[in-house]
Amino acid sequence: MEEQKNNIPNKGNNNAPNNRSFRPKFNLNLMYMIIAIMLIALYMTNEGGSGINQEISYNEWQTYIRQGYISKVVAYDDRTIESYIKPDHVKDVFKDKAEEAGRNPVVVTKSLTLQGLDEFLQKEKDAGHFDGQIVSKEKGNYFTMFLLNALPFIVIFGLWMFFMRRMGGGGSIGGGLFSVGKSKAQLFEKGGSNISHITFKDVAGQAEAKQEVEEIVEFLKSPQKFTDLGGKIPKGALLVGPPGTGKTLLAKAVAGEANVPFFSLAGSDFVEMFVGVGASRVRDLFKQAKEKAPCIVFIDEIDAVGRARGKNPSIGGNDERENTLNQLLTEMDGFGSNSGIIILAATNRVDVLDKALLRAGRFDRQIHVDLPDLNERKEVFGVHLRPIKIDNTVDIDLLARQTPGFSGADIANVCNEAALIAARHGKKFVGKQDFLDAVDRIVGGLEKKSKITTEGERRSIALHEAGHASISWLLEYANPLVKVTIVPRGRALGAAWYLPEERQITTKEQMLDEMCATLGGRAAEDLFLGHISTGAMNDLERVTKQAFGMIAYLGMSDKLPNLCYYSNDDYSFVKPYSDKTAEMIDEEVKNMVNEQYNRAKQILSEHKEQHAQLAQLLIDKEVIFAEDVEHIFGKRPWASRSEEIMGEQDKEKHTKESNEQKTEKA
Ligand code: ADP
Ligand code: ZN
Repeated sequence: MEEQKNNIPNKGNNNAPNNRSFRPKFNLNLMYMIIAIMLIALYMTNEGGSGINQEISYNEWQTYIRQGYISKVVAYDDRTIESYIKPDHVKDVFKDKAEEAGRNPVVVTKSLTLQGLDEFLQKEKDAGHFDGQIVSKEKGNYFTMFLLNALPFIVIFGLWMFFMRRMGGGGSIGGGLFSVGKSKAQLFEKGGSNISHITFKDVAGQAEAKQEVEEIVEFLKSPQKFTDLGGKIPKGALLVGPPGTGKTLLAKAVAGEANVPFFSLAGSDFVEMFVGVGASRVRDLFKQAKEKAPCIVFIDEIDAVGRARGKNPSIGGNDERENTLNQLLTEMDGFGSNSGIIILAATNRVDVLDKALLRAGRFDRQIHVDLPDLNERKEVFGVHLRPIKIDNTVDIDLLARQTPGFSGADIANVCNEAALIAARHGKKFVGKQDFLDAVDRIVGGLEKKSKITTEGERRSIALHEAGHASISWLLEYANPLVKVTIVPRGRALGAAWYLPEERQITTKEQMLDEMCATLGGRAAEDLFLGHISTGAMNDLERVTKQAFGMIAYLGMSDKLPNLCYYSNDDYSFVKPYSDKTAEMIDEEVKNMVNEQYNRAKQILSEHKEQHAQLAQLLIDKEVIFAEDVEHIFGKRPWASRSEEIMGEQDKEKHTKESNEQKTEKA
């Protein structure tokens, strides 16, 4: 039943796969090493101007001069003498080493005094034994020599360090050359500057999750109670649920309640471009945790490391991630179950996790943290309204009802946004309207009244939105409408709010009705405008995905009944069905969408006049509510719930209208 959908426009797709783990794993580290080694090697072989440098005694040297072997003498002020051997005499000097002598073979010796050297050379010159150049040079002091020699190494090392730092995350927490392998976990502990004050009181709703997690607190507080009976304390629990539902909050609350240190990090913190870093970070994390035990380690988004390891060796897996995962598994096996470390991890994609992680003795508990339902939303509002100064118009009940599909984080956001809106209007207290505006804003983005739409565009948008509204009003299972607007919001040109029924199971009829309503926009353009436009892309995308899901995953098609081709392996290039079936799926998706599209057109042409009235009303008023739709179409025969909404809408509408009149006059 993954296809539970609410029709809130533009609400982010919570199940979007997490992309963090896809950073390029190109091993730069190794490359730098190779470059460095190559440079060093080059430098070494280059030494002495490509030739050998043999030390000889002064006497020997004098003999060579006398025999005329030497072409050039370089005399240094420290009495060192370098002498270049004439190519013809290389054999005589170096004997069997002559082969290696190179292009500029040199012999080195030391004279007793510079004075004596001078005299000797003069004498030999006069005797005609030596006719080469004499150069005298100053020998730099050893420190500058050393610096000159070491310079290339220093530069290479500096560059290397620079790149390491850059890749190690700016050297902020765990960065720097020598700490890439350190874990990036943030530690919250009593006495530290960042203590976890959070307790279960701060976590609203989530009764079941809290209950399970309370047990963990018990384990940490009094482990003997369980171990005395021979029980083993679980090593880890997995918090499973969509983002923003309070998983981190729960984990912090456990630490706060049990009064133990709390390590927090994200799965992606392990993953770095360097080979071996992930594994060493895991090791470091566990080392730190053991020092602080009893404690809690919280790994957010564990799917970044915990994805199933490659099944197909020929494609080649992501080695670094797999090493990290293996290290994590090893460490989890490594510490005894009574060592007082409990690992909590969060993910919203438990289906992609490696099975080995879920085995007994690792994350053997799964705690589901779902989106809050109506009552839970009330509680969440209760928590987040505490610090906000509200006036008596604010009605938690209404707010909870207006925020279907919102997560705890969304609700926290609504409360904050409402306070900001009120502040912008210079109010002393935050009122109901501020909250409703905040909800609208979070759902649909900021109203963009300034976005210029031509008269024609407005008409086209109005027809489109009226199409959605009409069909969702006329179909039994479509989500009842709350309000429709043609004021551009965020990236959408118009929007309709619906109140989805909060159900756990959706029937095929419900899904088809929803699909039909979603197609109502395009159908209306087609029927009443005569041409179709780009405005429906979002609708079409949703419909296509939904139809594919119904046919390929939910077994809801006539030709492929009761088959589910769902595969949780994102990287598998092999479809779990034959080409023929693929064709059939395509065909069935097309048929299903076509059928609903025709149905939408049918319904709209049967209710042409009403649709036109609705569109006109939208053009005139920009925002219309369920009540207006009811004026035109009459009561919904199945409308127990939408009436309830309308009761509330009534009041809201009037305030909204008077607001709008005000702005228009202004
Ligand atoms: P997750 O880890 O599931 O993505 P978080 O725990 O980080 O979500 O939640 C983000 C914020 O949303 C929290 O700091 C809190 O303000 C709010 N929140 C989420 N769920 C709840 C809840 N059940 N009760 C109160 N606040 C919540
Ligand atoms: Zn639409």
